[in-house]
Amino acid sequence: MATQTTPAELGSEPQIPATMRAAVYRGVNDIRIETVPVPAIGPGELLVKIVTCGVCGTDLKKIHTGSHSAPRIFGHEMAGVVVRVGHGVHNFTLGDRVVVHHHVPCGHCYYCRKQMPAQCAVYKKVGSTAGLEPSGGGFAEFIRVMDWIVASRGVVHIPDEIPFEQAAFLEPLNTVLKGVKMLHLAADDTVLVIGQGPIGLMHAALANRTGARVLTSDLYPERHAIAAKFGLHHSIDAAKENVVERVRKATEGRGADAVILAVGGNALIKTAIDAARPGGKVMLFAQTQHSEATFDPGAVCMDEKTLLGSYSSSFEILDEVLDLAFAGYRSGFDLTQLISHRFALEDAVAAIEVASTPKADSMKIMIEPVLGLGAK
Ligand SMILES: [Zn+2]
Ligand SMILES: [Zn+2]
Repeated sequence: MATQTTPAELGSEPQIPATMRAAVYRGVNDIRIETVPVPAIGPGELLVKIVTCGVCGTDLKKIHTGSHSAPRIFGHEMAGVVVRVGHGVHNFTLGDRVVVHHHVPCGHCYYCRKQMPAQCAVYKKVGSTAGLEPSGGGFAEFIRVMDWIVASRGVVHIPDEIPFEQAAFLEPLNTVLKGVKMLHLAADDTVLVIGQGPIGLMHAALANRTGARVLTSDLYPERHAIAAKFGLHHSIDAAKENVVERVRKATEGRGADAVILAVGGNALIKTAIDAARPGGKVMLFAQTQHSEATFDPGAVCMDEKTLLGSYSSSFEILDEVLDLAFAGYRSGFDLTQLISHRFALEDAVAAIEVASTPKADSMKIMIEPVLGLGAK
């Protein structure tokens, strides 16, 4: 293999070490920073040095509920640099800046044919790992990217002038765009987005690009201030105002054409349904746990409201997502504005803690093996 080269600012590494640091999930609410082996790669695979990785709500869910066996290394919103190229890989070379998708759909099974890639069995198989049971691996220094991910557009080149951090939003941006597309918004629609954390804010920003009028609600004025940077100026202070009344007032009493619920748990499902007009759509986007919730069946039957959900990303819209994240960045669609905290990998426990207890000043949390490189 050729001598390894990496961009100068990332430091030249004559050799890849045998061990690395990683945030290892050891059980419910138990993350430990440990030294683990750097994963070996096989033919058709890549070894990627992580530069930055976003903390996702689904990582937190797994950590706090114990839905997955331990030990594992989570993290899947990752961007980094190719540092080792497996035999037979021709479209990547050492030093390439890349985003890695931790799973890709097969493209031809029943669910893929029905445009439901998140239900595809291949998609459910995680193809990137920092060792242990494959679980993304972004909360470590290096990840092994498996052959089917490399072969199926799961690894994406980052254009030179795009920071790693912007690129790390590809996967969450994809999930959000997929959800917004399902609503088939029209320019004369009014959309309510409940919750202005990073995911809700991206929903609002993408809904806004369709020409629809977007109302946003959140408890924190600090988040509305960030939303304003994305052209979102119809904010509802959910701490002081009645969200449903405000939406009705803005729509001649009807309610919103579409409501996107971007707050986890079941407490706001009723608010979301009440805020939708008769015949309107209600999208559950943050209800990532199976549970039971009550709802008014008459709202669905007589009022003809549609309850729908969207989960995970779609490769059918990958080109559009790349365009939004990369070309969009050059014209001001700067998702790095959503980042409120950056933690070194050594401080990943604190990063998970901050991400798990949202406050007025916390938005997207990034974990970086070397603090500061994500912005490059
Ligand atoms: Zn995610
Ligand atoms: Zn499939």
